[in-house]
Amino acid sequence: MARVLVTGGAGYIGSHTCRALRAAGHEPVVLDDLSSGHAAAVRGLPLAEGDVADPEVLASTFDRSGPFDAVVHFAARISVPESVSDPLGYYRANTAAALTLVEAAVARGVGAFVLSSTAAVYGHPREQPIGEDAPLAPTSPYGASKAMVERILADASRAHGLRYAALRYFNAAGADPAGDLGEEHDPETHLIPLALAAAAGRRPPLELFGTDYPTPDGTCVRDYVHVCDLARAHCLAVEALVAGEPGGVFNLGTGRGHSNREVLGVVEEIVGRPVPAVEAPRRPGDPPELVADPRRFRERFGWEPGLSELRTIVETAWRFARSRWADGGAAPGAPTGA
Ligand code: UDP
Repeated sequence: MARVLVTGGAGYIGSHTCRALRAAGHEPVVLDDLSSGHAAAVRGLPLAEGDVADPEVLASTFDRSGPFDAVVHFAARISVPESVSDPLGYYRANTAAALTLVEAAVARGVGAFVLSSTAAVYGHPREQPIGEDAPLAPTSPYGASKAMVERILADASRAHGLRYAALRYFNAAGADPAGDLGEEHDPETHLIPLALAAAAGRRPPLELFGTDYPTPDGTCVRDYVHVCDLARAHCLAVEALVAGEPGGVFNLGTGRGHSNREVLGVVEEIVGRPVPAVEAPRRPGDPPELVADPRRFRERFGWEPGLSELRTIVETAWRFARSRWADGGAAPGAPTGA
């Protein structure tokens, strides 16, 4: 049993990870400022409301709820285009805040740290699938802000013996099969929730960004990994690091790519209605293809992404979306109050 500080635990991947940690017998304590997370997503868990970048908030969380065996750090800003227009805000929220947290973890003798990282650290890699040893060449401040945190962890590991796992997610998607926990970004920018809402007639037609990529059907190819498989991966990483595994950097994906058109086809099958879509120009910064080589994490931690078939991802996301709409929740991307 590990006591785990989960920053950003009320967010999408964070809340699923808290649930997985609990199911495995651990004790997650959530630190979240609720700027984008939802308190309801962590109902029943200890929740400290505050900013992870604030040393006083961290000190009081460690004093009141520690000691912790591990820290899992999700709290961050996640929009690539927003990071281009507000780079300094991203370096503050993602890099400076993580530095403050790593300092606190080292000072308090926490031995294990799991970082929510991203495939965006690779930029536009030439070779697919992408192994962890591919060069780090982020093309956005978002990707750079996470690559810097990875470097901070590598150096803290060498100097202070902090064991860490930087988990580079490919495309996180899907929802808990129970239907009560899922993806609720505001504004929503991700393909699957937007396509589901468009098919349900709850949003205007989807804009399909770019149909002239050098891919089999001209649309971008991504490696979708189910959020519950990601949650389980964090749990395995915590357990291994606490037990003394040295850690490192790891891709979390399936090794299979799906084009945007293929995703829309599966959404149509599951919803039973066409996805109204209009072809639109490429979205700046989108690489044509991002597919993980996930072998390192699978082999080292015995991880099996068993829910990450695209159909299962879309089915669970659809179940969650319908339950939110039935509760009166707005469609993703709809103006507040719609
Ligand atoms: N996409 C799209 N229309 C949308 C949202 C996304 O065509 O309204 C495309 C996007 O350009 C990319 C893919 O869907 O090729 C996955 O995008 P998403 O934002 O879901 O994840 P990302 O790959 O950016 O992390």
